[in-house]
Amino acid sequence: MDTFYFIFLFYLFFSLMMDANIIVVGGGCAGMQLINALLKLPVEQTGDILLIESNLHPAHKSWCFWTSKPSEYDFLISKYWSVLNFSSSSSDLKKEIAPYRYNYINSERFFEYHHQLIDQSSRIKVVYENVRQFKSENGIKQVITSNKCYQANHVYSSLLDAGSLESNKLLLWQHFKGLFVKSDRPIFRSNQATIMDFSIPQDGATHFMYVLPFSETEALIEFTSFSKVDSYTDYTYNSYLEKYISDKFDCTFEIIREEKGKIPMTNFDFPAVSEHGVIQIGSAAGLIKPSTGYAFNRISRHTEYLIQCFLNPNPTIGKMKGLARFHFYDSLLLQIIQNEPEKVATIMDQLFSRNSFNKILTFLDEHSSVLEEMSLFSTLPKRLFLKQVLKYVQAKI
Ligand SMILES: Cc1cc2nc3c(=O)[nH]c(=O)nc-3n(C[C@H](O)[C@H](O)[C@H](O)COP(=O)(O)OP(=O)(O)OC[C@H]3O[C@@H](n4cnc5c(N)ncnc54)[C@H](O)[C@@H]3O)c2cc1C
Repeated sequence: MDTFYFIFLFYLFFSLMMDANIIVVGGGCAGMQLINALLKLPVEQTGDILLIESNLHPAHKSWCFWTSKPSEYDFLISKYWSVLNFSSSSSDLKKEIAPYRYNYINSERFFEYHHQLIDQSSRIKVVYENVRQFKSENGIKQVITSNKCYQANHVYSSLLDAGSLESNKLLLWQHFKGLFVKSDRPIFRSNQATIMDFSIPQDGATHFMYVLPFSETEALIEFTSFSKVDSYTDYTYNSYLEKYISDKFDCTFEIIREEKGKIPMTNFDFPAVSEHGVIQIGSAAGLIKPSTGYAFNRISRHTEYLIQCFLNPNPTIGKMKGLARFHFYDSLLLQIIQNEPEKVATIMDQLFSRNSFNKILTFLDEHSSVLEEMSLFSTLPKRLFLKQVLKYVQAKI
């Protein structure tokens, strides 16, 4: 009986010290997807949840991803395309992608929905503070902000320490500037999105344009670069955009809004759990696909995985299964982008002109079989990839 009371008092003491059972740090794409999934579990399972976010007004983003089945966030998709275009200096391809659709979610709608969900729940609280450090003591995780030290049993964090990536041999940046435009007359095919148009000057890096029409008169036209530097000047972005727009579209545009961003592209070995037992999510867990910058689908899959771990009384949180070979493929492509950027347009041209778009989407989404991958690789420049395999092996020795 004495032992029982001791254990009871011990747990009572610690639960009184806790600010929540679960703390989620960073209410962005990954933090919100996790909160959405946690709130579907009974309150007895999750206990109280605390979200710590530094930014009251997150920057606007456009999230695109492709799906072939109904998915969690279908109701937030404001536009989808069932035909994709790929262009280069030698190809102009247009293909149906059914059963896939290429989806667009506006981050404003995404955040509005999650904040409503949070407001309706009594088990979750949000504080707007800047997280500075993580610690742990006797298995209790501590999150230290500019204001206070918060304690919880489980901490999930999407804070990416960009400094830690710098020592990695392979580190490139995907950086872009996009214009949301409105034309003075119908000019776009609103069921077709241009996923990559390489017919623009490469200038020693990897450059392409991306066009998402929302209607016959409205579109997002985006210039994207994969390069060693993490941004260009506004003047440079604007020159590529203006030239493309004047070459491709014979009309006058009004600019409604601009979008800018940068995403690290690296084969860095992101930890699944930090030294203080903080479970990594989103960018911090390496969920941004190194060779493309897409993360939305990977974050959704990781969220499901973390919920399974949470419900398991003895979980070992590691990397999601099946990613190792895709990590290897991504590394090869990153090596080419880093060392031979001028070859990327040709590789992409061969990839898109010699394979069905569906096959490519399945591969990029990491759902392809080894056999399908081999058939896809057989359409690419073999010598170049063999050279990269050798470089990869040498770097590992
Ligand atoms: C402009 C842009 C467009 C993108 N488009 C796509 C796309 O179309 N498709 C796709 O699949 N992927 C896309 N990505 C990649 C990826 O999906 C996003 O970067 C995604 O937002 C990553 O989710 P995250 O939760 O890891 O990070 P974020 O969404 O950035 O969330 C991190 C959160 O942590 C908060 N935070 C930061 N520091 C602190 C701190 N010290 N204390 C407390 N809170 C803090 C931030 O305010 C933010 O809300 C895009 C990325 C960018 C930058």
